Amino acid sequence: MTFTLFPDTRLALARDSLAGLSVGDALGAEFFVPGRHPGDLAAGRLPAPPWPWTDDTEMACSVVAELGVAGQLDRDRLALAFAERCEPYRGYGPGAVTILRLIRTGTPWPVAAAAAFDGQGSCGNGAAMRVAPLGAWYADSTRRAAEEARASAEVTHAHPEGIAGAVAVAVAAAAAARARLDGVRPDPDRLLAVVAGALDPASAVHRGVREAVALLGHPADGVAAVLGNGSRVTAQDTVPFTLWVAATHLDDYPTAIRVCVEAGGDVDTTAAIVGGIVAGHTGVGTPGGVPDGWLAAREPLPDWVPAHP
Ligand SMILES: [Mg+2]
Repeated sequence: MTFTLFPDTRLALARDSLAGLSVGDALGAEFFVPGRHPGDLAAGRLPAPPWPWTDDTEMACSVVAELGVAGQLDRDRLALAFAERCEPYRGYGPGAVTILRLIRTGTPWPVAAAAAFDGQGSCGNGAAMRVAPLGAWYADSTRRAAEEARASAEVTHAHPEGIAGAVAVAVAAAAAARARLDGVRPDPDRLLAVVAGALDPASAVHRGVREAVALLGHPADGVAAVLGNGSRVTAQDTVPFTLWVAATHLDDYPTAIRVCVEAGGDVDTTAAIVGGIVAGHTGVGTPGGVPDGWLAAREPLPDWVPAHP
């Protein structure tokens, strides 16, 4: 079935996803502060505000700004936006800092991205961490979400696994947002099957998503031990677990974020990915959605991001 998605609806879905992504990122990052315990969230003890957001949010804001202003991505503009807005203290990895500095100083992005990691290209989780709002924007087409996610990934991530991670997250976010428009809650195995269908079966990310399906219903700590929690900061070590969490807790944003925090690893990024997928489905300030108090505690987003329509 095809239907018309008006630009304001696309932007509203992408902004809700960005709210979830940025709150997950900022709250997740709080748990790297010494003395904070993952059990605090379950006990209802929230960190004192403000919660500063990190690189995940900074890059996702550029994705939403490009979509909101131009209506679609232009890779040259996107690469430059990432490079010019990069504030290194936001927690960028050394590889990302190098790629973005090359682009900022005039190296074409295909050259900069291909040169990374001794010519292998990056398979880091950076393309996946910023892409959920793009998936929500393309709620009317998981195929288009996959194509545009690939394009958005390639400006920094030339390795097939880095790209596959972004495609997987965007397709999940598109399907989650579409389900919201349809007023349904997709079964976890159905959601993950849609994601797996968009991936190259030879990729490690695909293999991880298939493993995630087999682990549905299992306790989260055991699942993270098998799938990874992002501690290696690769796409294949990060994305399958985040999709398991999002599929399992698609209608419960606070629980989805708590599961990421308790799993440890690259928590700001796992919570950003999960938050971006889930919030495109639940919305903000709704039952099961991003709590208004959490949104208020997050550092404000830059004023160049198009406002919620
Ligand atoms: Mg980060």
